Amino acid sequence: RAKGAGKNQYKLFDKETDRLLVRKMELERDLRKALVNEELEVYYQPKWDAESNHVSGMEALIRWNHPRLGVVMPSEFIPIAEETGLIVAMTRWMIHEVCRQNTAWQSLDLLHICISVNMSIRVFESGLLGEMVEEALQETGIKPDNLELEITETIAMYDLQDTIKQLKQLKQLGVRISMDDFGTGYSSLGSLDELPIDALKIDRLFIRQSDLTSKQAIISAIITIAGQLNLEVIAEGVETEEQMSFLKSRGCRVMQGYYYGKPMNAKDIEKWLEQPDNSKQIKQIQLSDQ
Ligand code: C2E
Ligand code: MG
Ligand code: MG
Ligand code: MG
Repeated sequence: RAKGAGKNQYKLFDKETDRLLVRKMELERDLRKALVNEELEVYYQPKWDAESNHVSGMEALIRWNHPRLGVVMPSEFIPIAEETGLIVAMTRWMIHEVCRQNTAWQSLDLLHICISVNMSIRVFESGLLGEMVEEALQETGIKPDNLELEITETIAMYDLQDTIKQLKQLKQLGVRISMDDFGTGYSSLGSLDELPIDALKIDRLFIRQSDLTSKQAIISAIITIAGQLNLEVIAEGVETEEQMSFLKSRGCRVMQGYYYGKPMNAKDIEKWLEQPDNSKQIKQIQLSDQ
């Protein structure tokens, strides 16, 4: 009997492996067409300034609306895009689309914020990033500091001198740079002061509700490092009021997470902005800006 059950389990496992393999092959085959067929969509997640209570920025996160499989998440297809080299064209599209959308929102007077785009190591390797950014800035007319590029420790440390060189060129164009998922990658602590960055994003792993107590010292240390290096600090993955007030008490001002808003497509962001709590704050900012 036990043997039988084991055998069934093995068969089940086999089927699951086959299914995943077939799916991966399908995704690999279809990803080439996804860009041309306009199946990629940008979602936006608000960054919230918890001190002045307003939207202070957004992060762009890519989604693939596959015609048959539905929404495919970046954790599944970004690695494929990296393996096939499609990531370069995809990032070019992403940067352009984000700048275009941001310009549109600004001309409607809906929002005047900076939007960040996630970077892959392959894009740095291609040597085409500077050109891509310059092109998007020119074609859309967006203010350079309204575009931010999120890099990771892995990108920074892969070829530190080349990364510093590329980042300096990007800073000359006027765009912002932030370090994403800080504290989880191959440590760049010794080189952090050499990187021309504007902000540190504390990884969601440290903020998780279940680990909040045990990670208090690490979170505080990251906030202190950011302050000492004159960097802004952003906490990602804030889901509860408790996380929010803890972070605030430790001096972290900007937060991102489901507590404030999930990633939404452009239409839903516009609806989200219509909610009194979200839009009221933006109007206040605009008044105080005048
Ligand atoms: P990331 O840049 O660290 O983005 C944060 C991820 O955490 C997003 O997942 C977001 O939806 C999720 N998240 C945000 N707030 C919360 C929260 O309160 N709770 C929980 N549980 N999750 C939260 P997503 O959109 O699936 O993206 C995953 C990763 O894929 C990103 O991590 C980023 O590394 C990569 N990625 C996304 N879009 C792009 C892109 O256009 N280009 C590149 N190269 N990578 C991308
Ligand atoms: Mg990110
Ligand atoms: Mg992150
Ligand atoms: Mg993360």
